Amino acid sequence: MKAVQLVNPARPLELREIEVPKIGPLDLLVRVKAAGICHSDAHYRAGRSKADPLPMALGHEVAGLVESIGGAVDGFKRGDRVCIHYMTTCGGCSYCRAGDDQFCASGAMIGKSRPGGYAEFIAIPARSAFPLPEEIPFEHGAIMMCSSATSLHALKKARLRPGESVAVFGAGGLGFSAIQLAKGLGASEVFAVDIHPGKLEMAKSFGAFPVNASSTDSISEIKKLTGGRGVDVALELIGLPMTMRQAVRCLAIKGRAALAGITEKTLEIAPYDEVLNKEAEIIGVSDHLAQELPLLIAMVQQRKLDLSKAITRTVPLEAKQINQVLDDLESSGENIRTVIRM
Ligand SMILES: [Zn+2]
Ligand SMILES: [Zn+2]
Repeated sequence: MKAVQLVNPARPLELREIEVPKIGPLDLLVRVKAAGICHSDAHYRAGRSKADPLPMALGHEVAGLVESIGGAVDGFKRGDRVCIHYMTTCGGCSYCRAGDDQFCASGAMIGKSRPGGYAEFIAIPARSAFPLPEEIPFEHGAIMMCSSATSLHALKKARLRPGESVAVFGAGGLGFSAIQLAKGLGASEVFAVDIHPGKLEMAKSFGAFPVNASSTDSISEIKKLTGGRGVDVALELIGLPMTMRQAVRCLAIKGRAALAGITEKTLEIAPYDEVLNKEAEIIGVSDHLAQELPLLIAMVQQRKLDLSKAITRTVPLEAKQINQVLDDLESSGENIRTVIRM
């Protein structure tokens, strides 16, 4: 089969002819129909984040058709449409049994620690495959397995209840989904905080109230818009200590700030005023859970999450074009979402 692999870090990906992977009794072989090209893939190619072992087909946002089925697998038949949870897990360790599968002792990410979807076929444990309804195109089934799933996990970690208000800091890749999912889960109001007019416009088109942090103080604006109360839930999706602190400071009494943006820098908090006095909570968010994916798929099926504007182009399984997309991701901060279509 054809696979576009990372052979040497900091070198272009290469199209290679390799063996179709063998499957074990608990696995599925999936014929890949769509694979999202994610910003993380640019980090793996550059060697800033390590894909191992090499050579490795990248690609952790994958949807396709079941091609063959391991002898001990129930519930799938050849030709089933599926999307793939990017973390393969054992199902038996204490974390998996508790439903915290992102901490699985033997968890492996496809396209990073085991072969991914930049290939004609991928072998995965059947427990990583989720039925993809006919109404959802493969391209959407692929890209929702990464940033959309993490946005939903952030809202779940923040325990958003219907009727509560939400502030989303960062209306980019994660925010695009988070705004729509918050609405879909019954949020009364969603405030989208960003400094890019285009992203704020997009947020507005999904029913969020735009807060332009380049021309206004986002905390006082959110307080003003909520009658001085603040929001019940704030999501930080950027990864800056400044916006993390704003997410905490704009909370109402008993508000929850879920932090999903990544930074190594220190976050300063004034404990009494900003957390203790209002019994606020600061919650860490990492990846997402397999058990959340059926809800995400249902929300896309019900059009509560519209991904039709998310994909800017498609490319074939071809090294030159995929490398070009990764070059573009390296040089641009824009939300460009490209999907490999097979
Ligand atoms: Zn991704
Ligand atoms: Zn496990």
